[in-house]
Amino acid sequence: MQAHLTSYEETIFSKIIRKEIPAAIVYQDDLVTAFRDIAPQAKTHILIVPNKFIPTINHATQEDEAALGRLFTVAAKIAKEEGISESGYRLIVNCNEDGGQEVFHIHMHLVGGEPLGRMIAK
Ligand code: 5GP
Repeated sequence: MQAHLTSYEETIFSKIIRKEIPAAIVYQDDLVTAFRDIAPQAKTHILIVPNKFIPTINHATQEDEAALGRLFTVAAKIAKEEGISESGYRLIVNCNEDGGQEVFHIHMHLVGGEPLGRMIAK
């Protein structure tokens, strides 16, 4: 319920990226960090985030393309390591209220490890 916000502040994800609070980090490089979701919605549920604080996809600019592209290649690498490349998985990026975004720092959900059913549940 934060779609009305006109200004955004760093979230808990920035603290995870800086390792100021604990998280099960599975990957980190100069552009992105990946860590296990604290409330997994599937057997595998990992969040991949740009290290730079970008609140929503609406705030992404051309200069963010390298980091946002990296989300996909890192997702594929992690999926392979998790052993779900061939069985399949889903990548989700939520935006604002109707999209179900709760943490206002762009993140890609990598979910899999079991059949995920229909793409959209209302
Ligand atoms: P959203 O609904 O914004 O797309 O997804 C936010 C996700 O962040 C949720 O799946 C939620 O479980 C996860 N999450 C929220 N706070 C934390 C946290 O402190 N640590 C971790 N690892 N995940 C979190």
